[in-house]
Amino acid sequence: MAKKNPCKRRILLKLSGEALSKDGSRGVAPKALNDIAKEIAHLHKSTGCQLAIVIGGGNIWRGLRDGGGVIDRVNSDSMGMLATVINAIALQSALEENGCPTRVQTSINIYQLAEPFVRRKTLRHLEKGRIVIFAGGTGNPYFTTDSAAALRASEINADVLFKATQVDGVYDSDPRKNPKAKRIKKITFKEAIAKNLQFMDTAALALCMENNVSIQLFDLHKKGNIKRAVCGEDIGTLIY
Ligand code: UDP
Repeated sequence: MAKKNPCKRRILLKLSGEALSKDGSRGVAPKALNDIAKEIAHLHKSTGCQLAIVIGGGNIWRGLRDGGGVIDRVNSDSMGMLATVINAIALQSALEENGCPTRVQTSINIYQLAEPFVRRKTLRHLEKGRIVIFAGGTGNPYFTTDSAAALRASEINADVLFKATQVDGVYDSDPRKNPKAKRIKKITFKEAIAKNLQFMDTAALALCMENNVSIQLFDLHKKGNIKRAVCGEDIGTLIY
């Protein structure tokens, strides 16, 4: 049987909110937003892959980090989920500026701003070549958008989950503390969970493992990396 063209896959891309901000500062920076939108638009047009994106909200609000002991965890997490909606609308605008048809689907209902998440509709959008941006995380407090990415990737039967992040892969120890830390090219889910490597929360890893969705983690800031990953190049770390 002919091997499936690696570029013609159904992909779930997890972008942390920081992808839309400037050098780790808060908020949405139009230049950073446009740079990432350009890269995604180019990859979508040139590969014809089906693309869904889960966007985080950490550039605006993170429940656990930002409540400051004043806002209780559940409300603080609600604020984090709303932050992902702000980012999703920003990303939608930027992708459309770059010529990509998109839909935003949310796990919390905000009818005036976006569609609710309905799996069958998502699949239809993907088949029609629209990029679907998932916002609102899982819709539940105490979770992260990594878990939302694992959940949506499983639900839409994605071939792979790409986690574009601040580091260029998973290391055997913290490279900031240990100059001899080695990048791991490939690791099984079981090993990653047992070693508690902390590049993704355990709930997300377990869900991907159960549903056979492999994860590839790579550096978001290296230009062209998203396309390299989509086209099957050996970058970052593969968790399988
Ligand atoms: N969040 C939540 N439930 C979810 C997803 C996210 O409560 O299912 C909240 C949580 O407070 C989290 C914030 O939204 O800190 C932003 O998401 P995340 O930290 O995952 O964003 P990222 O780090 O990817 O930018």
